[in-house]
Amino acid sequence: MTELPPWCCVPVELTAEEVAFLDGLPDGAHTVESVRPCEIQEGHEGVHMSLGQAAKDDVEWWILWDDAGGREIGVLPPCEIEDPESEHQCVLPLGHPGRCGFALD
Ligand SMILES: [Zn+2]
Ligand SMILES: [Zn+2]
Repeated sequence: MTELPPWCCVPVELTAEEVAFLDGLPDGAHTVESVRPCEIQEGHEGVHMSLGQAAKDDVEWWILWDDAGGREIGVLPPCEIEDPESEHQCVLPLGHPGRCGFALD
């Protein structure tokens, strides 16, 4: 077994308004926590990404942020790559940097 690099895990802290917004989306699958870790592979390029909320009709709201303090919350389509072994679809957004989510456990 080769050892896979870990998650990036750089945290983002949401404001109360942002938590309330994500918590208030229709059919939200998750209880929104105010601090979220980046879910991309460690050492990745570009912005950090963390799933904010999975809402009605599988609409996924992602939090994107950079080290300079910029931040954006928006809907991103899912990555379409499947794990050939488990057939689980990657949980990260389309075009994410680094390895797919299922390869990072
Ligand atoms: Zn990151
Ligand atoms: Zn992927």
